[in-house]
Order: sequence, then C-alpha cells, then structure tokens
Amino acid sequence: MQESMKRQKIRCWQCKEIFSLLIDTAGEPTLTRACPYCHAPLKLAFGGEPQNIITVMRGAARSQPQEITVYQLPEILESSDPSLLH
Ligand SMILES: [Zn+2]
Repeated sequence: MQESMKRQKIRCWQCKEIFSLLIDTAGEPTLTRACPYCHAPLKLAFGGEPQNIITVMRGAARSQPQEITVYQLPEILESSDPSLLH
C-alpha cells in the first residue's frame, strides 16, 4: 500500500451517514465517489495546504526516496453535491 493511501471518514451530504473510504491523499484534490448507503454521488474536496512528504519504497532493489504531495484531511471529511456549482 502506498504511504499516501488513507482510510478517511466521510460524511454523506445527502443522508448524513458517516463511512470510510480508502483514498489517495497524493492524488487529485477533488474526487467524485458514491455514498455506500444512499448511492448519492459525492464530491470530495481536500481542504488545506498540501504537504510534501518523503517516502521510500520498501523492498525495492534500488529504492529511491521519493517526494510526494499529500493533503492534510480533517477527521471527518464533508462531501458535497457534485451537481451544485460553487
Ligand atoms: Zn448517503
């Protein structure tokens, strides 16, 4: 598993259920997922400042430290309706 993969608690904007999803905090700062309870589409926006971390792949023969950018996420990430324009 990559260092940047994180199990994140997310609150559905529609049914208000809280569930966890495995997301890549080094990936796109805006993701679209679906709620496992009501199947509403969810837009997830990582707030805050991205942070660079150094990660080393373990077990690789010629492992090179690699700098990746991750987002600091709150304990529960609020989702929003992707059909709404901000
Ligand atoms: Zn829901």
